[in-house]
Amino acid sequence: MFSCEFSFDCVFNFSMYQLFMNFVRYYPIAGLFFFVLYVWKKNYFERFRIQDKYPKADKIIREIKQSAVTLITFSLIGISFFILAKLGILKLKVYKDPSLYGGIPYMILSFVILTIYHETYFYFLHRLMHTKTFYSLIHKVHHESVNPTPVAAYHFQYIEGFFEAIYLPVFLIFVPMYFPVFLFHTFYAMILNVIWHSGYEFMPKGFASHPIFKWISTSTHHNLHHQKFNGNYGLYFNFWDRILGTNFPNYEAYFDNLAEKRKLEKVETAPVLEKPSYQS
Ligand SMILES: [Zn+2]
Ligand SMILES: [Zn+2]
Repeated sequence: MFSCEFSFDCVFNFSMYQLFMNFVRYYPIAGLFFFVLYVWKKNYFERFRIQDKYPKADKIIREIKQSAVTLITFSLIGISFFILAKLGILKLKVYKDPSLYGGIPYMILSFVILTIYHETYFYFLHRLMHTKTFYSLIHKVHHESVNPTPVAAYHFQYIEGFFEAIYLPVFLIFVPMYFPVFLFHTFYAMILNVIWHSGYEFMPKGFASHPIFKWISTSTHHNLHHQKFNGNYGLYFNFWDRILGTNFPNYEAYFDNLAEKRKLEKVETAPVLEKPSYQS
């Protein structure tokens, strides 16, 4: 795909593909989460909510609109790197022959390296974004969502959108990736981002303090970041926050408290079972 020679048509077709992949992937998926959790099954999922209140409509509309700015920024970065590669200025190491570089073991390895790299890049970028100047100039837009919804996942100011995306083409200059693995990464990165912003927690009590699972991030972890700002900076994992002591001190207790509350609500709202009646 897109092995065409550099020409207007070639760049135009790739641009349409980029826009399509970004928009037609994000809005339907984030929109589906929103529809199920906030509209269709709102009552059923209420007990899984992290914050009791629901965000106001104007905040949600703002999240939807600003996400479009991020998606355009993502597309422009993709198109720019495509042009640079076509002109021979850069060489992006995306390959289509799965037998190259050692097949499946290398695919898994490259996937793991990319995930660790993205986690580290995001954590330190995020901390930088919380310094006074960067926060007031750039990152405060993302924090307009104090009570985020699935469509807040890409609620970024365009400069932040640039930094949120640039890690990937830069990675491809140095590390070869099989195209489907690269595509899979972009999918799960987006879906997890949507889940972290959903406003709902589904993991059971003890997850955030479990010896193994505590190293994985949760929706509550990022929701607390939106509520309280200066802490809980991580992305997929709760690694750097734990190592560098930037988790909010009450994170694990807050998490368990939510799960406990959910259990109590379930008991309160459980249907009363009728006793079976037997006819003699
Ligand atoms: Zn932040
Ligand atoms: Zn966020």
